[in-house]
Amino acid sequence: MINVKNVSKSFNETKAVNSFSFSFPNKGMIALCGPSGCGKSTLLNILSGLIKPDKGEVVYQGKSIYLSSENEISDFRLKNFGFVFQDFKLFEGETVMSNILLPLESTSIVSKRVKLRKCEDLLNLVDLKGMIKKNVNHLSGGEKQRVAIARALINDPSVVFMDEPTGSLDEKNSKIVMEIAKKISTYSLVTIVSHDVPLMEQFSNIIIHMEDGRIKGVNKLREIDDKKYLPIRLDKRKIKNSSLPSSFLIRRYFRKTKEKKWQSTLCNLSMSLSLIGVGGAISLTSTISTNIKKVYSDVIGENRILMTPNDN
Ligand code: ADP
Repeated sequence: MINVKNVSKSFNETKAVNSFSFSFPNKGMIALCGPSGCGKSTLLNILSGLIKPDKGEVVYQGKSIYLSSENEISDFRLKNFGFVFQDFKLFEGETVMSNILLPLESTSIVSKRVKLRKCEDLLNLVDLKGMIKKNVNHLSGGEKQRVAIARALINDPSVVFMDEPTGSLDEKNSKIVMEIAKKISTYSLVTIVSHDVPLMEQFSNIIIHMEDGRIKGVNKLREIDDKKYLPIRLDKRKIKNSSLPSSFLIRRYFRKTKEKKWQSTLCNLSMSLSLIGVGGAISLTSTISTNIKKVYSDVIGENRILMTPNDN
């Protein structure tokens, strides 16, 4: 499904990815493994359209993703790809539901009832049933990562990119996350970056070993699972715009203001003082000018014309 043809990317003198070519299947779990600095994350970013390669092509469903404009790539990414990161990237202080639904809020106009059903279905998949109203601040690291996975799946992506999803988890939680990724890989392509080769060997279908930006070896471990997990699918035609809802932004603003009470109070106080200062200055200027006028009119009188002779 993703066809990578001879892709290279350098940062100054560093060749991060060097003539990489590979055909990714429609589904299954493909792991990119290798030592730190071998170009795994750069390659993942190229595959997902986040960075443009210097050379080569990434063809997705027969079309080069880099031939489109920035906005088109961004829209395409939102509708077709899901992302999971090592540090979860959740909105702290928000509920599980609000975190999961956020990408949907920004892209789609589906009804509240469908959104709720989709959210519950995903929570079922990641084994967090009943946690929908919980604040993500009160979850463990493993649970947060499972919420992040549910969020990555909200738009029914055909490819899920995971960058070191188990990097900050213990062994037990790493396995739980990998079990979920495995389930997803029965109907979508899961491309996962990891330095943990033994863990990837337990779950992946194919491991691509990288070294110095190149493929060092490809290890085909097992056939792609045919068992089908069927999520509730959304109507993709309803996916419309891609701006964050203002209600969410306003709520975030007030939450942040509440969280940073002292900073906000000080900021508001200094703004008020500045406004009072500006007001005071304007009023003082107008008082002084009125006083000057008054002094002149006392000396001369308002209805008099003062005349002085031209010579002696
Ligand atoms: P990995 O994910 O395997 O640890 P990366 O893809 O992050 O490797 O990095 C590959 C190489 O490219 C490294 O030498 C890294 O320092 C370099 N690199 C990655 N991103 C940048 C960047 N934005 N600017 C400069 N150098 C970078």
